[in-house]
Parts: sequence; C-alpha cells; structure tokens
Amino acid sequence: MRRPFLPTTPVSEPYWSYLQRDELWLPRCKSCSRLVFYPREICPYCSGLEFTWEQMSGQGQVYTYTVIRRPFLQEFATMAPYVFAIVELQEGIRMATNIVNCSPDDVYIGIRVQAVFEADDSGRKLILFEPA
Ligand SMILES: [Zn+2]
Repeated sequence: MRRPFLPTTPVSEPYWSYLQRDELWLPRCKSCSRLVFYPREICPYCSGLEFTWEQMSGQGQVYTYTVIRRPFLQEFATMAPYVFAIVELQEGIRMATNIVNCSPDDVYIGIRVQAVFEADDSGRKLILFEPA
C-alpha cells in the first residue's frame, strides 16, 4: 500500500530523516525544555524559536484507540480492520499512529507498546507501534 503523506518541510525534515534510520527523535525547546510534537517553528508552550533534537526510547502505552473497519480513504482499504491509536510515549508525548503485528482484539488502553519503523510501497518509513 502507499500511504498519503504530508509534504516534508525544512522544519519536519530531521524528524523524517531519523525515521528512515529506524530512530525516533523529537525537538526539545531550548527556552522551556519541553518536548514538542509535531515539529514546528514556534514552541506551543513558550513561543521559543530554538530547538535541539533528542532521541526517544520508542517505548510507550496506548492512551486511546479505535478499530477502523471501513476506511474513509481508499489507500487504507487493504489494511482494514486496523487499529488507529494515540500512543503516549514514555517521555510524555502523545502521537497518532497504528498498532500493528497483532490482532485488533489484542489491543487495550494501557497496553505497553514499542516503536516499529515500517516503509510503505513508496519506501518512505513512518513510526508505528506493536505490543511490547
Ligand atoms: Zn518552549
């Protein structure tokens, strides 16, 4: 399958480059020291303009989820049924993602998950999670 992707921008380029190496890195604001996701030009907490990039553990837990049985977008038709989830990283950031490599029936709120990096047919990788 070929997933629809947002275009990469100069601000998000490091995020995508790290994902291609099977690593999750997120920006940390130099002014208030908070992690920021998604990558953006201005810190949403303090309006800081400078960031450093920091590698994340890839460990987390499912904060909430739903099972998609009838995808809205045609690109996802072959995936159904699949789990769309919000995963809370060990570092406190919440990300929208999919839970893979298990049955949707195995997923529950609070289940421990770990990052997996999966390429679609275009070869571009994104971060997904599987039960730890
Ligand atoms: Zn800040």
